[in-house]
This record gives sequence, C-alpha cells and structure tokens, in this order.
Amino acid sequence: MASSSEDKKFGYIPKDYVVPEDLDYLHITSNNTIYGTQHKSFPKVSVPLVCDMSSDIFSRKVDARQFALIYAGAQKNMGPAGATMVMIRKDFLEKNKSGLLTMLDYKTHVKAGSMFNTPPVFPVYVVMLTLRWLKKIGGVSAIEKINNEKAKLLYEEIDRNSMFEGTVISKEDRSTMNVCFRLRNESLEPEFDKMWKEANISGIRGHRDVGGYRASLYNALPIESVKVLIEVMQEFERKFA
Ligand SMILES: *Cc1c(COP(=O)(O)O)cnc(C)c1O
Repeated sequence: MASSSEDKKFGYIPKDYVVPEDLDYLHITSNNTIYGTQHKSFPKVSVPLVCDMSSDIFSRKVDARQFALIYAGAQKNMGPAGATMVMIRKDFLEKNKSGLLTMLDYKTHVKAGSMFNTPPVFPVYVVMLTLRWLKKIGGVSAIEKINNEKAKLLYEEIDRNSMFEGTVISKEDRSTMNVCFRLRNESLEPEFDKMWKEANISGIRGHRDVGGYRASLYNALPIESVKVLIEVMQEFERKFA
C-alpha cells in the first residue's frame, strides 16, 4: 500500500505520496463508492498505472494515455452486470508474467478478439445501446456537464442545509458519482427516511459499513431526481430545524 486515508475514515484522497520505482505497477481506484471520494487528477508516477474505473467510467473525460491498464465493470455507467471492459496498453500486455492460467492471461482475450469463451451477449448488447444513447446526447463531454451540475446542486444543498453535513473532509475530492452525507442529529433518521420514501426515492441509505446517506448520481440518473431529493431535504429542514 503506497498510501491510505484510513486515518480519517477514508475521507480524502491521499496526495503527494512517494511511490517506489521498482514496482510492477501502481493500482488505484478512481472513485470510492462507499466513502464518496474521487480522484480529480491521477498520480504522476514512473511505474505503470492501473486503474479500476468501475464506478465512474464514461462519467467524465479522462486522458487514457496516463494508464497502462484501465478496467471497469459494466454495472454502473455502462449497462447490466456481467460484462467488464479492459483497456490495456500493448507494451504493458507484453510484460505479463509467464505461467498464468490461460483464462487469467489478458493475451488470451486480446488474441481471441474478446471471444475466447462465449461472451455474455445480453449485457454486451445493452452496453452497446447505452453507449449509443450516450453518443446521441453528446457523448462523455455532455454527460460530464450534467453530472457536474447534479453533484453541484446536491453538495450546495448539503452545505447550506442546517440539518445535514457532508462526510468527505476535503471538498475538492468529493465524488460526482456518490454523494455521502449524514444528519447532524442522527436520531432524526426515521423522520427523514419517512419523507424521502414518501417522495418515491429509493436506495439512498449509506453503505452498510458507513451508515448515513449516499445518493448515487450515475449517468442514468436524471437531474430531476436530484431536485426531488433537494426538495425533500428543504422540507425536512422547515419541519425539524
Ligand atoms: C461497484 C464497485 C464494486 C462492487 O461491484 P460488485 O459487482 O457489486 O461486487 C467493487 N469495486 C468497485 C471499484 C466498484 O465501483
């Protein structure tokens, strides 16, 4: 482990840490879905950089040239669970260990055009439809604008509203995908839960390890849904402040 923010409950993205130069690679995860932090930029390292982008792939523009390998499960921004996208730089592919099991060797899949075994046809098909939809609305730069707008609205409300507080310590590391917050007075949770459920909101309970609340704003979530949550938060403040 090159660095960690465990000391502050993973409430920030570690920066300016020293990475040994004799590593095979450095692995990072671009967005932390549990604690709601996100790399806005990526470490500049001399070793190959490998990134798990499962939870923010295609949500914003990223310069792929920084990475030796990017992988992402489809199930958040791309399509249904069951497919995984891997992008690997050719020179990095050549550096793989010998003696890997056939199935675990990316070379196998590159050589076979990703059809070494039967691909999960339905998830791949839905990923295609989702990517066509994304292209039609203006591509990654268009969805990035919408995602930034959604996150900005919600974080502004969390900061303004006297009943709530954000749980990420460094505001510059706040995720645009997973907005984590909690009640300043947690004994009011049953009251708040009743209100958002009545507004037909679902799934904003925080991860089981963390508690509190987490609103996930993946590509598929329209800005109107964010506005509904904000209205509930404002009504909650009017009633209980
Ligand atoms: C969503 C996510 C997971 C969990 O994926 P499951 O398929 O639900 O296990 C794990 N790691 C990262 C980085 C994720 O974004």
